[in-house]
Amino acid sequence: MNASVRYTAEEFAVELPAAEYAARFRDAERIAAYCRRCPNYGRSWGCPPFAKDPAEEWLRYGTALLVAAKITPREEGLPLAEAGRLLRPERIQIERRLLALERRYGGRAFSYVGSCLYCPEGSCTRPEGLPCRHPDRVRPSLEACGFDIGRTTSELFGIELKWGAEGKLPEYLTLVCGLFHDAGHVAWKE
Ligand code: SF4
Repeated sequence: MNASVRYTAEEFAVELPAAEYAARFRDAERIAAYCRRCPNYGRSWGCPPFAKDPAEEWLRYGTALLVAAKITPREEGLPLAEAGRLLRPERIQIERRLLALERRYGGRAFSYVGSCLYCPEGSCTRPEGLPCRHPDRVRPSLEACGFDIGRTTSELFGIELKWGAEGKLPEYLTLVCGLFHDAGHVAWKE
């Protein structure tokens, strides 16, 4: 719970074969076109274009553990500008747990959504062509690797993605991330 923006967060996790997830939910060309229109495109090391095809990162693993967090503000009609404050505490704890799983089981975490957590806003080294300051922590998002997050949330988690309107936040926000691995089964909640 964030003391300044009150919300509840529910987490959901599913595992399925990585090849099945890719066959059903990857639409690389269409999603890449969305990424190219984003102001972050090419301006953060967590965003495309990537030096290496991200498919090489996940194609080698057998299982996809996917995690969704549904974040519901206690107050209705908050301004859209509050989205970052609502999402940040959940992103921090989820990314920390994903990286811990990556260290424990191997595999590759996918976590980056929106602005990077690890440097002050607007200070990414990428626009200057300098290396990332925290490559041990920054991971790309599933969207950046061509996965359709709207269909992932609706078909695998039963959560419809909601968008803000007229400057207000929707009823809830949804984060999706995951770990591609070869460890058989990895539990999200132990
Ligand atoms: S950790 Fe810093 S340098 Fe690396 S992607 Fe994030 S903002 Fe950029």
